[in-house]
Amino acid sequence: MGLIDKWLRKYQDDWCKPCKCAMEKTHKQLFALPSMSVGHYVEHKDPKYFREHLYMVEKKADIPAGMYACGAIQYRCPECGKRVTVLDPFLPVRDEEKHEPSIRFEQGELDDLLVR
Ligand SMILES: [Zn+2]
Repeated sequence: MGLIDKWLRKYQDDWCKPCKCAMEKTHKQLFALPSMSVGHYVEHKDPKYFREHLYMVEKKADIPAGMYACGAIQYRCPECGKRVTVLDPFLPVRDEEKHEPSIRFEQGELDDLLVR
């Protein structure tokens, strides 16, 4: 809960620009990203990559040391109904987290990854 709220404040990913309003958070899920390890992060923007490499986990403690995690949040705009999925890859390091730039998908590319 606290974690998700921190992401929101940091990135303002919940903003629908055309409508100038905050979107509703409809789903959130944590994933492990075993294809990325400490010191070897490469930014990907292809939804196919994430379909192949994200593994759903329950909590951060389930992610082995040195492996990247990826938070995913899906938003829905109450005005225009647009849905946006935002991925937030980060490296869990003790009490800190090293966040990489978040990746937005606005065409429903990853909708079924969060909603099954
Ligand atoms: Zn909107």
